[in-house]
Amino acid sequence: MTDQPVRLALVGAGIFTRDAHVPALNALGDQIEVVAVYSRTQKSADTVAALFGHEVATYTDLDALLAREDIDAVDITLPIPLIPDAVRRALVAGKHVVSEKPMAPSVADGRALLDFYGDHRDKVWMVAENWRYHTLFRTAADLIAAGRIGKPVMCTWNEFVTMDTSNKYYHTEWRRTGEFQGGFILDGGVHRAAALRMMLGEVASVSGFSRQVRPDLNPVDTISAALRFESGALGAYSITFAAGAPWTPTLDVVGDGGALRISGYQVIELTSGGNTDTIQVPAASDVQAELDAFAHSVLTGEPHLDTPEEGLLDVALMEAMLRAGERGEIVVPAEL
Ligand code: NAP
Repeated sequence: MTDQPVRLALVGAGIFTRDAHVPALNALGDQIEVVAVYSRTQKSADTVAALFGHEVATYTDLDALLAREDIDAVDITLPIPLIPDAVRRALVAGKHVVSEKPMAPSVADGRALLDFYGDHRDKVWMVAENWRYHTLFRTAADLIAAGRIGKPVMCTWNEFVTMDTSNKYYHTEWRRTGEFQGGFILDGGVHRAAALRMMLGEVASVSGFSRQVRPDLNPVDTISAALRFESGALGAYSITFAAGAPWTPTLDVVGDGGALRISGYQVIELTSGGNTDTIQVPAASDVQAELDAFAHSVLTGEPHLDTPEEGLLDVALMEAMLRAGERGEIVVPAEL
C-alpha cells in the first residue's frame, strides 16, 4: 500500500458523472485525486472540472489525456456503445480502469473485451455495478444465504416507468436510437440482473415476451420474462418504460420458510413463522463504496466485487431475456 493517492481522470462528463461520481469522489478524500476530465465537448468537461475544489485539466482529445504518464487510472462514464473502445485504449495506455455498467453492449463484445484484458491483467479493471455494493441487496443476499426464508421458491419483480421528457435520461438520445440491444432495458436491467444473481444465484433458462410500445424508445421498451434459477427457484421479471404507475416497485422473494420484500430501495420486510420484521437499511452511497473499493484495489492489489466476469454474466442474463422476448424461445444465458 502506498501513501500516494490514485491519480484519476474522468472519461465522460455527463449526467451520472455529475450526479453520482463527482459527489462520491469528493467524499472519498485523500485516496483519489481527480486530475483531469475528458468530454466530447469542452462545455461538459468545464462543468465537471468546476465541481472540484482544485484545478482539474480538461480534454476533448482522449488520446492526449491517456498519453499523460502521471495519470494512474481512468473512470469511464461514456454511452454504452463507446465503452469497449475506451476500455481498450485506456488499458493499452497502461491505466487502471473503472468503467460504468453494462460491461459491454452484448455478450459477444464483452467476451472480446475480456480476451483483450487477458494481456493487461496487471491493471485493475472494475465494471462499476453499484448495486453489488448496495447495502440493501447485500443485506437481502446475506439473509437468504443465512436461510432466513428457507429455500427460495419464487421471486417477482415488476417495474413501471414513464420514460418521457420529464426524465433527465430521456434526453440522452443514445439510449433511444436502437444502436444497442435493449435500449433502456439493458441499461437499467443489468442492475436487476446483478441483484437477482447476488440473491438467488445463476439463472439456468429464460423465456418471455417483449414489445416496443413507444416509437421513440428503440429498439424495445417492455419486457416480461420468466426465469428458472439453477437452484430450481422460479422468477418473473417485468419492466416497461412505456407506461408508469405511482407505486413503488417491489421485489418479493418467497421461500419455503419465509419471505422477504424489498420496496423503495431502503427497506426489507422479512417474514417468517408469523413474525414480520422491518429492516431499515442505512442509506449509504453505493457509488462511493464501489469507487472506494476500486481505489483500494489499485493501491493494494486486493480483489473487489465488480469483476468484468460478473459484469459479463449480468449482460448475459439480460441478453437472454431480450433474445427470449424476440424469438419466443427458451434461452440459456451465456456462460463465461
Ligand atoms: P450522458 O449524460 O449522455 O453523458 C455521456 C458522456 O459521454 C458525456 O461526456 C458526453 O459528452 C459523452 N458523449 C455522449 N455522446 C457521445 C458520442 N456520441 N461520442 C462521444 N462522446 C459522447 O450519459 P450518462 O447518463 O451519464 O451515462 C453514462 C454511463 O453511465 C453509461 O454507461 C450508463 O450506463 C452509466 N450510468 C450508470 C448509472 C448507475 O446507476 N450505475 C446511472 C446512469 C448512467 P458531451 O456531454 O460533451 O456531449
